[in-house]
Amino acid sequence: MNEQTNNHEIQLLGRITLRGTLTALTGLHIGGSQTGLSIGGVDLAVVRNSFTGEPYIPGSSIKGKMRALLERALNMPLQVSVRKKTRSQTVKVHYCTDAGGYGQCPLCNVFGIATGGRMPDTPRQNEIVNFPTRLIVRDARMNAETRRKLEENLNTDMPLTEVKTEVVIDRLTSMANPRQIERVPAGAKFDFEIVYNLYRDPEDFQWFKYLIAAMGLLEGDFLGGQGSRGYGQVKFENVTPTLEWFDGKDHTLEALEETKSIQPSEQLKTLWPKIAKERGLQP
Ligand SMILES: [Zn+2]
Repeated sequence: MNEQTNNHEIQLLGRITLRGTLTALTGLHIGGSQTGLSIGGVDLAVVRNSFTGEPYIPGSSIKGKMRALLERALNMPLQVSVRKKTRSQTVKVHYCTDAGGYGQCPLCNVFGIATGGRMPDTPRQNEIVNFPTRLIVRDARMNAETRRKLEENLNTDMPLTEVKTEVVIDRLTSMANPRQIERVPAGAKFDFEIVYNLYRDPEDFQWFKYLIAAMGLLEGDFLGGQGSRGYGQVKFENVTPTLEWFDGKDHTLEALEETKSIQPSEQLKTLWPKIAKERGLQP
């Protein structure tokens, strides 16, 4: 794969935009800054828009969790990556380390690769892999009706949220050590938007199913913190896909079947056997 080839492959052919509702089926805690803005003295506050004070779901939280779940499900090789503040700490994530592998990798192609456009293990600077990110997940704003209902509700502990007390019991003294966690109550709805850009025909069209699978995996898992304690179960609802074409062609590709009716958990059941076969996963 050479630079010239790559430059020829970045024409934006079209895009699929998914819009709908992301509903919190259980209380949702996506942590915000614990300094300054935390009002009401809770131990763990949720992230809020600084202008409106509304809790929102960062696109990075949705995208990051979907990627992590898909990485695990696909059993992708992990590399030691981002260094944290203290230099001794490292994080293991998957990213492709050579252009050839990247070309075949639905994960890196769909979710992107944070290497500044250069393959980490590529010795020569001119081997630039210039595939732009396909997936854009926007911050999900609280739905206007949810906001209105929560504003009218006198049972909220803090503006638009509830505070739940979690208790750790000391096993020797039986003493309860409570801490207060702010969360968006179950039933709250957020307006989400996911954009899937199409650059390569047919790969990108076929890889769209990995996005639906990742959405399905997220529904079966959780978003935000305290997930093993019941928080963060979410569901994508009323998903409306919009297809736009920029290359003047009529694309009638198989992958677009997946946009007909988007119900990620349901689709995952039929998509996963296909994906497992495609990726050579052991049954
Ligand atoms: Zn990869």
